[in-house]
Amino acid sequence: MNQHTRFNLPLCLTVEEDAFFHSDEIIKRYIPDIIGQKTIVISEQFLIDIYREKIMDISSDFGGAEVMAIQRASFDEAVAIAKKVCIEDIRVIIGIGGGRVLDTAKYAAHISKAVYICMPTSLSNDSLASPFSVLETEGAARKTIACKIPAAIIVDTNMIINAPIGQTLSGIGDTIAKHTALFDWKLSAARTSGNVEDFAYALARMSYDSVYHCDEKDLKNHVFIRILSRALVMGGLAMEIAGSSRPCSGSEHLFAHAIEEYYPEIKISHGLAVAMGSIPACIFQGQSPDGLIGFFRTYGLDYHPASYGISEEMFADIWLKARDVRPGRITILSETPHDPSQLREIYQRMVESE
Ligand SMILES: [Zn+2]
Repeated sequence: MNQHTRFNLPLCLTVEEDAFFHSDEIIKRYIPDIIGQKTIVISEQFLIDIYREKIMDISSDFGGAEVMAIQRASFDEAVAIAKKVCIEDIRVIIGIGGGRVLDTAKYAAHISKAVYICMPTSLSNDSLASPFSVLETEGAARKTIACKIPAAIIVDTNMIINAPIGQTLSGIGDTIAKHTALFDWKLSAARTSGNVEDFAYALARMSYDSVYHCDEKDLKNHVFIRILSRALVMGGLAMEIAGSSRPCSGSEHLFAHAIEEYYPEIKISHGLAVAMGSIPACIFQGQSPDGLIGFFRTYGLDYHPASYGISEEMFADIWLKARDVRPGRITILSETPHDPSQLREIYQRMVESE
């Protein structure tokens, strides 16, 4: 495949205060030909209730676009939206919400070939600009499905600042996970005589560095939100360029996937689960986790398993399950023997470092 044409980049990435109040002007600057095209706004009912004024403003700016609330972030719902979009000749889908809404809207746009404008109300993970949607399928399992990245991403820093702090912390966790993910990606490439894509690697590294070395420690500060927004988008683009999730997802993500699949009763966001997983992953990789621990403490990110009801035994079992949760994916876990006593030690170290 041609190296230069196999990936897409968004035409617009705007991160501004009150950007949602003039999203039409922003779009007019970057993608003028979609103004006046039939548009649908996808969101969730509770968000429509909270942000009625902003969402109605966006709807009227885009020609009185219909506002539709999704029930669940499911494959079926994305397909139903795509069907409506095709039948009603809708050309533009605007997703306004968190990960569930954005993943559903992104996939609906992908299959209906509509232009997708992504307008996040929180920054909980890097699916913002990633070439994947995580959707519920029949039964309980969620599936990660490849799709096209958004044509435009508009972040309103005031919206993000007003979002629950846990969501921003989750976005921070997903960004910091790149540290161990990139190590695992290199390891996997070395073991399979493959290559890491240098540019995707650099983008993911910069995404991590910009947040890890950020001088701004206040999560409610506009500068910090701008840096985090860009870091999450860069992570998504790294995946788009690499053609896989490898730049952003390593053994720490296998840990999070194992929680989701085998311990669905554990209530922990994706980003916090990968943040928690990145500490043991660092240790398996022979790297010191002290830098990450210090960083998490600075931002008040709770990485302690017991806070989420994860006991020592569960912790060891999750790491055991993590080995097989994505068959074929080579990470440090492929070369680290499962050692319950080492895991007990790590668990204790995580307790004591609090
Ligand atoms: Zn992630």
